[in-house]
Amino acid sequence: MVAGNWKMNKTLYETRDLIREMYPVLHNIQGVEVIICPPFAGLGVAKREVEDSTIKLGAQNMHWSDSGAFTGEISPVMLKELCEYVILGHSERRAMFGETNETVNKKVLAALAHGLKPIVCVGETLEENQSGVTADVVGSQVREGLAGLTAGQAEQVVVAYEPVWAIGTGLAATPEGANAVHKDVIRPILREMFGETVGDGMRILYGGSVKPDNAAELFSQSDIDGGLIGGASLKADSFIALVKAAM
Ligand code: PEP
Repeated sequence: MVAGNWKMNKTLYETRDLIREMYPVLHNIQGVEVIICPPFAGLGVAKREVEDSTIKLGAQNMHWSDSGAFTGEISPVMLKELCEYVILGHSERRAMFGETNETVNKKVLAALAHGLKPIVCVGETLEENQSGVTADVVGSQVREGLAGLTAGQAEQVVVAYEPVWAIGTGLAATPEGANAVHKDVIRPILREMFGETVGDGMRILYGGSVKPDNAAELFSQSDIDGGLIGGASLKADSFIALVKAAM
C-alpha cells in the first residue's frame, strides 16, 4: 500500500490537475493499493477524478460523532460518502491539535462503525528516541489507539509507523531500524491483541521522508508493507516512482 498524505496543500484546481497527471499511470495499477488523501475541501473533486479507477481516497482526520455542535469538524457519516480510508492520529495532529491516544481510539472505533478504514499513525519524537523509550511510546500508542477493537475490525486497520523526527526532515529511519520497530514492537502487539493470523495480516506502513531513492529498500523489508508519504506525494513523478517501488 502506498498512501499520499497531501496535508494542507492543493487547491481544487491543483487537486484536479495533480490527479489527472498521475491518472494515466496509476489508474489501473495492480499489486499495490494506491490511496490519495487530499484536504477535506478537495475530496469531492478528487472523487470525481478517480472514478472508474483503482485509486482510492482517504481523509486526514475526522471527529468521532455522527453529527452535532462541533464547529469545523467532519463526521464519519460525511466522509463515508467521499472516501474509503481516514488517517487518524497523525503526529501533527497530536502535537498541534491536542490529539491523544484516547481521542484517536474514539475516532478509530467511530470510523470502523461507519465502514471507514483507519490508517492509524504512531511514532516517537526525537527526544523519546534518544532517551530509548521508542518501544514504550509506540507500544502505548498501538495498544491504546486500538483498544476495544474486535479481531474482525482490526483487519480493516492499517498502522503507520512515522517517527516524528523523520517527518518532513529528509532524515528517514534506516530500513533496518524502521523494520525493527514494525517487527519487534508493533507486530507482536497486534498479534497479542488480535491473534496471530490477524496480527500477521495487518498492514504496517512506514512514513517519514520516504523518497524515490530510499523507497525500494524500505519497502523490501520483511515487515514494512508500504509507505505513508507526505512531501513526495505532492508531485506526480515522485508519487508514481514510489508506487512503482512498492510493486
Ligand atoms: C507524513 O507527514 O505523513 C509524512 C510521512 O511526511 P514526509 O513524507 O514529508 O516526511
